Amino acid sequence: PSGMALHGQSPNVPPPGSVLINANENPLGPSKAALEAIARVAPLAGRYDLNGETDLLARTFAAQSGLKPENVTVYAGSSEPLHYSVLAFTSPSKSFVTADPSYEAGMYAAMTSRAKIVKVPLTADCAHDVKAMVAADPNAGVIYICNPNNPTGTLTTKQDIVWALDNKPAGAILLVDEAYIHLTDAPDTLDLVAAGKDLIVLRTFSKIYGMAGIRCGFAVARPDLLAKLAPFGQNAMPVTASAAARASLEEPGLVATRKKIIGDTRRDTLGWLKANGFKVIGDPRTNCFMIDTGRDGRGVIAAMKAKGVYIGRTWPIWPNAVRVSVGTPEEMAKFKVAFKEVMAAKPM
Ligand code: PLP
Repeated sequence: PSGMALHGQSPNVPPPGSVLINANENPLGPSKAALEAIARVAPLAGRYDLNGETDLLARTFAAQSGLKPENVTVYAGSSEPLHYSVLAFTSPSKSFVTADPSYEAGMYAAMTSRAKIVKVPLTADCAHDVKAMVAADPNAGVIYICNPNNPTGTLTTKQDIVWALDNKPAGAILLVDEAYIHLTDAPDTLDLVAAGKDLIVLRTFSKIYGMAGIRCGFAVARPDLLAKLAPFGQNAMPVTASAAARASLEEPGLVATRKKIIGDTRRDTLGWLKANGFKVIGDPRTNCFMIDTGRDGRGVIAAMKAKGVYIGRTWPIWPNAVRVSVGTPEEMAKFKVAFKEVMAAKPM
């Protein structure tokens, strides 16, 4: 399945000048401080981690988040801990419960576990239906909550997440994927980790920090839960990634500035779509959203690509909707022109 393809390993390299709003990346790229940190540590990279950059990163994040360093394991992106969490906590007798549509990588890991996969449709306002997810299977191993959700960019309330933790089957953990949380005004769930609850929170530097190609992320949880991930792989971190991530965390105002830039562009694009009679699904609050195209989304994607605008994909439950990522204002201007033309033309 296409969802199993690794990021950036597609053989289809887009022609120069293409608008790439298909992978929820950050067009702003790594911050200046991150690039300087990479230049600083690169000459030392003949050693695994001479300065303990990865440990310093975990300590910095823990201190900023009211956690202990042992609550944080650093990985080369959040895909690894996402997979390992699912492999560790699902099995043929412990299912994987996910919203639908949602980020599908966990589901593919659950297939490797030969776990039952239970897909629970989002609510009418595109939140996770936590009541239905918690009730879905008394033998659930993982209940996956992507907040904000990919692909819809919509939010699930903290109250609902807390409710799920308090009411889930005893043998299940909550896997809360906060890849996009910084782009929203929503509260995160790190305090629930500090409180010792049964959850693993995933964080990444691929989104607001613009480091998708540098690779850094965290699993944040109780040490006994994190220990369960270790048997699936304990790779050394690239020192460049650890140093760049710490520099990003320590850069004052970085998150707020980027959140505003991306939020302004999102609001402008959503306003334009509405004003032009296009239907956006739910109330997206991050750097991606879904448009109900009212016709086969794959045809729309192909027609957009022919105009040099790469948008994201459809989901099986919604074949007539396409995911679009928020790019720069210039990129979204090109998106608007192309999308209007494509939707005015006869379907391909
Ligand atoms: N989780 C979600 C919700 C994502 O959208 C992505 C990437 O698109 C990831 C996790 C994995 O990203 P990475 O491995 O770059 O941290």
